[in-house]
Amino acid sequence: MPMFVDTSPPGQCIFCRLVAGEIPAALVYEDALTIAFMDIGQVTPGHVLVATRRHAATLLDTTPEEAAAVMQTARRVALAVQAAFAPPGLTLLQANGALGGQTVAHFHMHVVPRHEADGITLSWPRKEPPAAVLAGYAERLRAAL
Ligand code: AMP
Ligand code: ZN
Repeated sequence: MPMFVDTSPPGQCIFCRLVAGEIPAALVYEDALTIAFMDIGQVTPGHVLVATRRHAATLLDTTPEEAAAVMQTARRVALAVQAAFAPPGLTLLQANGALGGQTVAHFHMHVVPRHEADGITLSWPRKEPPAAVLAGYAERLRAAL
């Protein structure tokens, strides 16, 4: 479980207050749908968060326009991070729900410069089920689309 989870009501969460200018932020970029600012945690130098302006708790609460806009801003920020910090790698990470690793319940994407031995880990326990199981999962998803 994450160490800290912001459970403030919509409109009063940390990022809503940041969008409203009620708390300070090191602003990188903003437009009609998105805002990009430096993550206070700075996992590596140049670590940026791209969030929706409107409060949407997770990806599932965004509009298609907001989701697309966040990715467009993340791409733009990634190009700037590459130009300004020249990291040998770059990871985009987007967490949903406490069990998904989300600590601030306002949709956002991390743009994280990566370096050799930067201490970032994500365990990825592969299962490799048989093809029939994969086909069954795909069928469930096609029916849900
Ligand atoms: P997540 O765990 O994916 O929900 O990410 C939340 C991120 O928000 C963390 O990396 C925090 O360091 C960052 N954060 C929390 N409060 C602020 C703030 N006031 N300004 C900038 N970043 C923040
Ligand atoms: Zn919010």
